[in-house]
Amino acid sequence: MSSLLITGGRVVDPANSFDAVADVLLRDGKVAAVGADAAKQADKNCECLDATGKVVCPGLIDLHAHLREPGQSAKETIATGTKAAARGGFTTIVCMPNTSPSIDSPAAVALVKEKAAREGVVNVFVTGAITKGIAGEELAPIGSLKQAGVVAITDDGHCVQNNEIMRRAMEYARMFDLPVMDHCQDYGLVSDGVMHEGYWSAALGLRGWPAAGEDMIVARNILLAELTGTHVHCQHLSSAQSVELLRAAKKRGVPISGEACPHHFVLTDAAIAGSDAFWKEDGKNLFAALNAQPSTLNLPTWPKYDTNFKMNPPLRSARDREAILEGLCDGTIEVLCSDHAPHCNFEKEVEFDYAPFGITGFETELPLSLMQLYHTKRMTLPDLIAKYTVAPARLLKLNKGTLSAGADADVTVLDPDVDWTYARQDSASKSKNSPFDGWRMKGRAVATIVKGKVVERDA
Ligand SMILES: [Zn+2]
Repeated sequence: MSSLLITGGRVVDPANSFDAVADVLLRDGKVAAVGADAAKQADKNCECLDATGKVVCPGLIDLHAHLREPGQSAKETIATGTKAAARGGFTTIVCMPNTSPSIDSPAAVALVKEKAAREGVVNVFVTGAITKGIAGEELAPIGSLKQAGVVAITDDGHCVQNNEIMRRAMEYARMFDLPVMDHCQDYGLVSDGVMHEGYWSAALGLRGWPAAGEDMIVARNILLAELTGTHVHCQHLSSAQSVELLRAAKKRGVPISGEACPHHFVLTDAAIAGSDAFWKEDGKNLFAALNAQPSTLNLPTWPKYDTNFKMNPPLRSARDREAILEGLCDGTIEVLCSDHAPHCNFEKEVEFDYAPFGITGFETELPLSLMQLYHTKRMTLPDLIAKYTVAPARLLKLNKGTLSAGADADVTVLDPDVDWTYARQDSASKSKNSPFDGWRMKGRAVATIVKGKVVERDA
């Protein structure tokens, strides 16, 4: 019988509205007890983890990640991706189907699940494609994908343009009780845009990706969710208008939800004009949480056109960034996630126009969320943790995200106040395409426990 007693931490379990100093006993891969009983029930020679002064919460869930297997293992593997997730405090991640080949068949689902069971450090759930080959033309076998164990369908990285196909996908998804997740991008409006369309795209001479290209599809999804009654989850929201659309639709009771990634509520499009342009205006209040003099911060520097600031959807204006933060704080956006999207150096080290979209995110998402939401006093710690635990678990109907007795023994221990600096060369990910190299951070996970076993721990 294996057991682990986590002692003296502040236990925050939003699913049970629990927030108090308590012990947590894990036994045989399940949560055995939380509170005064935990230590009493523990065996004499039970392994102990002292969490005094730390926060103990349900294992964090990241419902938007790219693990690149099968087919793109030069960028990432299930082994390295899940290792990076564990480093960031995540015990469960959900991988996207835009692999090579894409996850649009039961065989592909089985392959990823089997590899994850063998080589994964954390729990991996799989999503299936909406359309065959993520080509947007012909529906994937949604019922068979569900039988194979997918937790949602999405064409992430791409977006189904044909509204009729999207409607049919939603109707099938409803029959099989699967949420539909959507990467919101109107191809006509976005065309070959590479950054947010605005002042900086004009100043830098780069083709613009207008916010309306996202808003249009968010509006489409709201209308189709209303028509079909299927739950639609809008992925990585980046624009002010899409938050507003979502807010109004939820008020009407439409089955719709959304997620946000830290890069969209930390950075802005000014970052693509280089670090000087960013720190001068949009970045100037970012480190208030550290209570440090700006002169002691050693602000990281980067050049203009740095492709580690290129992602899809793109970094937007300061106004959009503020709207995303407001949407998170008022509950319009329920879920926080990374959109962890590893790419090789040789792929990113090209002209901005030709570089692939995407950045790594597992190891920086929690600290950045803590800094922008909790340390700024805009959100309580339980509310923030809810967006990484109970909210994604509910959306995907995962039996995770809580410390209720009998739940899976997935636990994250975090130190919300530790001051540290991120260095991408030390990343556990196979790829190093993070824009946050050299950034001072406040807060991080210090232990990651999966099925009752410590898989990652700060030295
Ligand atoms: Zn996407």
